Amino acid sequence: MNTAPPSAPATPGDALDVQPTPLALLLLGRDADPRSERGVECPGDLPSPSDPGLIERARAAKERLGEKVFVLGHHYQRDEVIQFADVTGDSFKLARDAAARPEAEYIVFCGVHFMAESADILTSDRQQVVLPDLAAGCSMADMATAEQVAECWDVLTEAGVADATVPVSYMNSSADIKAFTGRHGGTICTSSNAGRALDWAFGQGEKVLFLPDQHLGRNTAVRDMGMSLEDCVVYNPHKPNGGLTPEELRAAKMILWRGHCSVHGRFTLDSVRDVRERVPGVNVLVHPECRHEVVAAADYVGSTEYIIKTLEAAPAGSKWAIGTELNLVRRLANRFAPGLRHGEPQEGKEIVFLDRTVCFCSTMNRIDLPHLVWALESLADGKVVNRIQVDPETEKFAKLALERMLALP
Ligand code: SF4
Repeated sequence: MNTAPPSAPATPGDALDVQPTPLALLLLGRDADPRSERGVECPGDLPSPSDPGLIERARAAKERLGEKVFVLGHHYQRDEVIQFADVTGDSFKLARDAAARPEAEYIVFCGVHFMAESADILTSDRQQVVLPDLAAGCSMADMATAEQVAECWDVLTEAGVADATVPVSYMNSSADIKAFTGRHGGTICTSSNAGRALDWAFGQGEKVLFLPDQHLGRNTAVRDMGMSLEDCVVYNPHKPNGGLTPEELRAAKMILWRGHCSVHGRFTLDSVRDVRERVPGVNVLVHPECRHEVVAAADYVGSTEYIIKTLEAAPAGSKWAIGTELNLVRRLANRFAPGLRHGEPQEGKEIVFLDRTVCFCSTMNRIDLPHLVWALESLADGKVVNRIQVDPETEKFAKLALERMLALP
């Protein structure tokens, strides 16, 4: 996926309607339901965000822990947190990095809940995964619950298409959804290998149930697999039978779950038109979680790793508008800004955010320095807090789906 198609077909009109989540997200991650990722009490006192000694405290706690701790930082994390990461990357890379460090007893995952679950699934039993704030969930992952997906499978069974359908679930899903995928012969995918995952799935069956991001599913089907928008239907878990008739389900090739990323879903065709006017000669580079018309109007499309590599390889003096999370875009803009490198003046690359409005991932941003300090100091004192542990049965089937992804050609 790296060049724009010539025209911008319309995205189905209802693609971005926001559905209510069963529970409201809590602001401070305290006093909530410990069975969900929507907030939980942090025992003890969090240091104040204005504490001038926080950086020193984080450093000291990390030093006390030494090799026992491995801190993972997702690309969308704040700078104040990323500075303490031993490694940065997207969710799958980070989970694999953690598995490759068996000497690290504690994995502190600066990311969101489903990422910490994947790390727990892929690491050994003696490694404990900690999420500094349990309220750091993912709104997209929350849009597909185990009950809703089981109900959807019943609807597909009723319509007589379940046997011909292979589930493909995006990495950005809960362990329960990954386990459902494993149980029903499906695979996990990332935004880098979604095309290969669909290719594989269509070799196993006639249809794909793509969970939970409709945009990644649609963009991959249309751009990589050459399908038409009419080959895709959207299953809405808030409507009886997903809002689809048995005939529609039988005719569809791609059954897209009605979920989306609240960050990437904010970019519109107007954002693309506007930036092309503001910055003549700009290259528009977006993530495939963006809406179909945005992806179709962009010059380049790819995962966060692809975005970083493309900018690294871009010639000096080139101009870029990036459609992904703002913490990452800001870091890249600073990294490639004109200035001195090794004492030599460097022309730099102009990197701007695709939209005029601020677009952070609010749940990622829940991991801040006070929570990181609290987690590290607790571990250094021998107390494991906010451990993320997937139950063995869920882990078994989720791992099966992840292994199918690892075996993709
Ligand atoms: S950026 Fe989107 S998909 Fe990623 S964690 Fe935030 S809400 Fe979830």
